[in-house]
Amino acid sequence: MKVLKFGGTSVGSTENINKVISILQQQAEESNIAVVVSAVGGITDKLLEAANLACAKDEAYITKYNKIWSKHNKIIEGLFEGSGLKQQEDNLHDLITEKLDELKNLLDGIYLINELSPKTKDKLLSFGETLSSTIIIHTLKSRNIDAVLKNSQELIVTDLNYNNAIVDFKATDKNISTFFESNSCKIVLLPGFVSKAYNGEITTLGRGGSDYTAAIIAAALDAKELQIWTDVSGMFTTNPKLVKQAAPITRLSYQEAVELSHFGAKVLYPPTVMPVLKKNIPIVIKNTMEPEAIGTTITEDDQLNGDSPVRGLSNIDNIALMTLQGNGMVGVPGFSKRLFEALAQEKINIILITQSSSEHSICFGIADSDAEHAKELIDAVFEYEIALQKLDPIVVETDLSIIAVVGDKMKSHQGISGKMFSTLGKNNVNIRAIAQGASERNISAVIHKNDVKKALNSLHEQFFEIKTKQINLFITGVGNVGQRLIDQIKQQRAYVKENFKINLRVVGLSNSRFMLVNDDGIDLENWKEDLAKSEKASLNGFFDHAKTLNLRNSVFVDITANDEVAKIYVDYLKQSISVVACNKIACSGNIEYYNELKQLSRKYNASFLFETNVGAGLPVIDTLSHLIASGDKINTIQAVLSGSLNFIFNNFNSETTFYDVVKQAQEEGYTEPDPRIDLSGIDVARKVLILARESGHQIELNELESDNFLTDNAMKADTVDDFFNTLKDDEAYYQSLYKSAEDKNCQLKFVAEFDNGKAKVGLKEIPEGHPFYNLKGKDNIVMFYTQRYPEQPMIIKGAGAGAEVTASGLFADIMRIANN
Ligand code: ADP
Ligand code: ASP
Ligand code: MG
Repeated sequence: MKVLKFGGTSVGSTENINKVISILQQQAEESNIAVVVSAVGGITDKLLEAANLACAKDEAYITKYNKIWSKHNKIIEGLFEGSGLKQQEDNLHDLITEKLDELKNLLDGIYLINELSPKTKDKLLSFGETLSSTIIIHTLKSRNIDAVLKNSQELIVTDLNYNNAIVDFKATDKNISTFFESNSCKIVLLPGFVSKAYNGEITTLGRGGSDYTAAIIAAALDAKELQIWTDVSGMFTTNPKLVKQAAPITRLSYQEAVELSHFGAKVLYPPTVMPVLKKNIPIVIKNTMEPEAIGTTITEDDQLNGDSPVRGLSNIDNIALMTLQGNGMVGVPGFSKRLFEALAQEKINIILITQSSSEHSICFGIADSDAEHAKELIDAVFEYEIALQKLDPIVVETDLSIIAVVGDKMKSHQGISGKMFSTLGKNNVNIRAIAQGASERNISAVIHKNDVKKALNSLHEQFFEIKTKQINLFITGVGNVGQRLIDQIKQQRAYVKENFKINLRVVGLSNSRFMLVNDDGIDLENWKEDLAKSEKASLNGFFDHAKTLNLRNSVFVDITANDEVAKIYVDYLKQSISVVACNKIACSGNIEYYNELKQLSRKYNASFLFETNVGAGLPVIDTLSHLIASGDKINTIQAVLSGSLNFIFNNFNSETTFYDVVKQAQEEGYTEPDPRIDLSGIDVARKVLILARESGHQIELNELESDNFLTDNAMKADTVDDFFNTLKDDEAYYQSLYKSAEDKNCQLKFVAEFDNGKAKVGLKEIPEGHPFYNLKGKDNIVMFYTQRYPEQPMIIKGAGAGAEVTASGLFADIMRIANN
């Protein structure tokens, strides 16, 4: 004998019922089977909603009822379609209509008296399984399959604890064996979830209780196997609806299954395990829609795949955390007894308890729905102590969830809780309370409900996918550099995944007009078209998406030069979202803002990186920070940091005019559209300021000395055109600069210097032999004179401008974060 249970989805559509029937036929060839069915998927909830509406005198209950009606009728229609069995269909239709009329009367009654007692609720909820089992038995019979329906209410005897009745196993087991002994049918169909009390009143076994019905029957009959057929291929490493990478667990021990189901793995109703565990009957969880998948087998002993100590993760939502604290508790026995007794009397289930060893507080988790009642109760029980200020009134926090890490073998492994909490911490998941069972089979943490998805995904990655780490990028600014970055990501993704086990995903993209966000990762082949069709851009809107998605390892990448964008880094960092900035404004603006960003980055464990602010892709800032971190001290920095000024002074000589060279630089994109930004030295000043700050100096831009080589005329020009005209007018002056350098066999370079806490920029005549002398094209050079490099500087040199190298600098920052 085997017992099979089919859940709501399995019996929720014509298509699935047909699948169920073929599974039954197959299995009935091998042995006798008892088949327990749930209500049609979602019907129990609809019944409850209808009842609550009726009870609240809301006529909308009729609409809900009609939905229940049409759902069942549609299934019947589908099952008989094309069968030619008109008579059988009509008979079933009449039977169902009769039952549905009964249901309607009951709902009308609730509406009239305006009351829904637990007793009436059970009567009402029992309709779901009664209807589904009636439909299935008639379908089986109409297809000449040898099957009989037995109402479980005549077998399962309970107490009068409505909605969650407790089974009298002695009476129940006797009823079950008596019935099955006299039964000769290969297939016995039974409604799940429903039962009756000693006095004949209808009761139910708790939401999800059809699994339990099946387990009770399996145990009573000493069945060979209990099969739970559902809509997923087994018990997964975690809820597959929340974590896409979740995978079925092939084997589990009973205890692990209990812990997982108890802590939210809804696929198995927790009490189910107990009856079958006593008889050592294996539970097999299978997918009706994919019967060939192996599913999960739950047995006494799990020797087969015990490699990973963590077997699953689960979550329970809608939790309230109650904290009772006060000096009056310390060392005084009996507080917890009074507390828990009061809750037990009111049947308030405690899901988690922690008490600090100082005994100053007890903290416990219960269902949100019980919180208000529990608070009144406890404040009343401890009224005296609260009045004497020995205890504080109980503190209630709601909107919480519990997540749990489960595994039999966790007890023999060190470091699991360390990994669990550091993973959560890294992802800015705030932990409100922690509990670890003495069996060490379960470590639970209470967190905010909005963090559950992120927490489960990060933990899943940590414990089950150690191989890859997902990085979620939100990129703003998709101009020249942005596009190159996206190209590089597209090109390198597979390589980075294979070699570094890092899964780079672009989840958000924005320019000044549009923003595109896709939780599954944006398709990098068609991003331009998709972006152009997406929603209107807004800085706050983009941030809200990132915040709401709450994805692990999120990184905001700013490839704009916009000061509004630079202002929003704070918001990202506060959400533990790392920031990679190509934009120089944040680091070269007000020092307080720079300091604040650095401090937030530490506090929220989110990186703030801006390597491309100086020398594009050259590793200048990274090198500097490593020097500082290892205890070196910067004495002097000398650098040529402007690709545009290099281009200009490399090409300017007595054969050309200053005007022509600057114009060419502008036209070829080596300067900003307004070349004054480069020529005035402000851009270089910002860069050296950042280096000074990174060397540990609190310094502002206006403290920098800037030797301006432009003429007063040029500085005073109102427009870019006026500025260019001054270059023509003042050609003789610019030629004199060139001549003076040439006479000394020097090259003109615009140099940035930082020495002894002071920074300055200016045009310099560089003699032959100096490392700056032969600097070509767009190259930058930085020389660090430090305590460890006092005479011969450490030199970094190479292209310091250009979209491709700047994008690779951003890529490097992203990889630094990913490897962190
Ligand atoms: P049924 O109606 O068949 O009894 P349930 O809805 O009660 O099905 O249980 C199956 C559902 O349990 C799955 O669809 C899935 O969303 C949820 N679930 C939660 N945690 C897990 C888990 N760890 N493994 C598998 N399913 C899970
Ligand atoms: N129909 C009941 C419920 O939805 C029992 C079950 O499906 O297991 O809770
Ligand atoms: Mg279920």
